[in-house]
Amino acid sequence: MSKYDVIIIGSGIGGLCCGSILSLSGKKVLILEAHSQPGGVAHSFNIKGYKFESGPSLWSGISKWPTTNPLGQILKLLDEKVELIKYQGWHVSVPEGEFNLEVGQEPFKKRISLLRGDKSVKEWNSFLSAIKPLSQIVSEIPLLSNSPETMNFLEIIRLASKFIPNINLLPKINGGFGDIVDNHLKDPFLRNWVDLLSFLISGMPMHDTNSAAMASLFDEWFDPESYLEYPKGGSESIVKALVNALKKNGGELILSSKVDSINFSQNMASGVTLENGSKFISDFVVMNTDAWTSRKLIPREITKKWTPKAENIKKCGSFLHIHLGFDASGLQNLPIHAIHVDDWNRGITAERNVAVFSIPSVLDSGMAPKGKHVLHGYTPANEPWEIWENLKPHESTYKNLKEERCSIFLKSLRKIIPDIDNRIEIKLFGTPLTHKKFTNTSCGSYGPALSAAQGLFPGCKTPVKNLLSCGASTFPGIGIPAVSASGAYAAEQIIGNKAYKNLLKMIDL
Ligand SMILES: Cc1cc2nc3c(=O)[nH]c(=O)nc-3n(C[C@H](O)[C@H](O)[C@H](O)COP(=O)(O)OP(=O)(O)OC[C@H]3O[C@@H](n4cnc5c(N)ncnc54)[C@H](O)[C@@H]3O)c2cc1C
Repeated sequence: MSKYDVIIIGSGIGGLCCGSILSLSGKKVLILEAHSQPGGVAHSFNIKGYKFESGPSLWSGISKWPTTNPLGQILKLLDEKVELIKYQGWHVSVPEGEFNLEVGQEPFKKRISLLRGDKSVKEWNSFLSAIKPLSQIVSEIPLLSNSPETMNFLEIIRLASKFIPNINLLPKINGGFGDIVDNHLKDPFLRNWVDLLSFLISGMPMHDTNSAAMASLFDEWFDPESYLEYPKGGSESIVKALVNALKKNGGELILSSKVDSINFSQNMASGVTLENGSKFISDFVVMNTDAWTSRKLIPREITKKWTPKAENIKKCGSFLHIHLGFDASGLQNLPIHAIHVDDWNRGITAERNVAVFSIPSVLDSGMAPKGKHVLHGYTPANEPWEIWENLKPHESTYKNLKEERCSIFLKSLRKIIPDIDNRIEIKLFGTPLTHKKFTNTSCGSYGPALSAAQGLFPGCKTPVKNLLSCGASTFPGIGIPAVSASGAYAAEQIIGNKAYKNLLKMIDL
């Protein structure tokens, strides 16, 4: 049986970042992935020449250098290049109307002026001025080089000294964003808009969404020069780059290998056993699984000594998905992204009230056969697991409920493409059961619903010294930039702070 320095359970973006940094630093790494594809929720699949995406579609800050995006920094460190296509606009369908919106300050201000008048523009300006110093602080603290678990006293003083004029703002950074909104925005449209952006980032409303995450989003999206990015070839290109970095430095990835349990010897992790009975030994184990799945991998006699945090953590909801392959003929100016909100009064967390669509073939024709488009749509983390958990996919009750609940997608798409029904070549609907099946997430959840108002996500350390975690259940939380940073923090724990800092010096961080 071969022995590894590190075994990582799961090849989500967090696990891949962790593994590729570790193999760059000379560790012998094995990543074990339950699914037949790497990437976790960012995996994709091909049918009849269409490349279907399953998860993230909003990317930014990866192609430019310098960047504050931890994934952009990690790709640079790994010397992996991904082609990113720049774009600015998305389509917005809200109760106030249908419009195309570009990222950047001026287009949104024009839209506010048209929809709500100049008083609301003033409100927005004062809100942006309040966020600016927060964004500056966040951009001065590179997430990658400041793991909260390893920062020492001197580093804290050094960082704090940069912000002396704004030092009173530091506590706000880790609080809920809604408090800042309450102080500056009264206009209902603007409040709803920020609530929507917060929900898309964290799966929670603005009062529960971390201010640092929102300050960096505002910095990127509302900067006068801002743009968004889409990886050419889709999320798969990012995943491929990370897998390539892992393998070129000697790391291994084994797909279709579900870990059944983590093995322990004298209260230390000693390797893993797969569902098929195969065993692997290692000095360290990193769990890229969500908090609830991780718990189940650890024997009871080990976890019973811990505070049972995972059992008490509230979960974000799950997803409904739609995947379409459709005829592109005659469709001009289709947006790459569209967001639809049915009714603000129902609240941003309400079921089937918000749908997000992306049509990547608008930017990258290679994502679909010639003359066709590929579309992925989802309801963002507000589909309740409970109404699905006892249904069986082959039964008519399940099929009927799926048709009924997924009808929200075509209903909103008809506003953008009125004859969409006649154009469809492939149509796939997905439910929380589908999401769970292909991503191996507990209850198909987006991740922990940990309110920023209550504190930070747990760090990557566990009470067992050589057992670590990374991914959306670990600090700094959900989303591609966050899970990338968490993967780096777990790697830092293994290679040591000094070796990690030396790696970061290679990219001037
Ligand atoms: C629909 C959707 C849209 C999103 N949109 C965006 C976006 O636009 N921008 C953004 O920044 N973020 C977005 N996110 C969030 C972001 O994609 C995720 O937070 C992030 O990708 C999660 O990465 P992770 O490292 O936590 O691992 P995950 O992606 O959760 O992967 C974990 C991996 O572990 C594997 N695994 C689980 N159990 C086992 C086991 N027992 N043995 C072996 N392997 C196992 C799973 O199969 C999986 O591959 C979106 C998420 C979803 C679902």
